[in-house]
Amino acid sequence: MEKCDECNKGIVEKKKVDYEVLGVNLGKFDAFVCANCGETIFDGKTMVEIEKKAKQQGVWGIAAKTTIGTSGNSLDVKIPKVIIEFLNIKKGQQVIIEPLDKKRFQVIVG
Ligand SMILES: [Zn+2]
Repeated sequence: MEKCDECNKGIVEKKKVDYEVLGVNLGKFDAFVCANCGETIFDGKTMVEIEKKAKQQGVWGIAAKTTIGTSGNSLDVKIPKVIIEFLNIKKGQQVIIEPLDKKRFQVIVG
């Protein structure tokens, strides 16, 4: 029996847990879960397995650099192909854009 490094109270148990990336469930993987705080740890071998599954499902490392351009009085953000394909968005589609803080914003696809 191992104690949890996070809360120092709970006992860590070996369990199969669901792993989700970008809303896509990749299945169940071996993990060590704290019965007290729920801290979930995957070992290195399992992380490699998760990464492999995520790549197969096309949900690994979907982030891309882009540049803000101008369009009349507003600015526009070019959306990279990898994002377009993942979100399945099209020209003319309405989205909601909102700031999350001073450095980040999100675009919600309706
Ligand atoms: Zn814990």
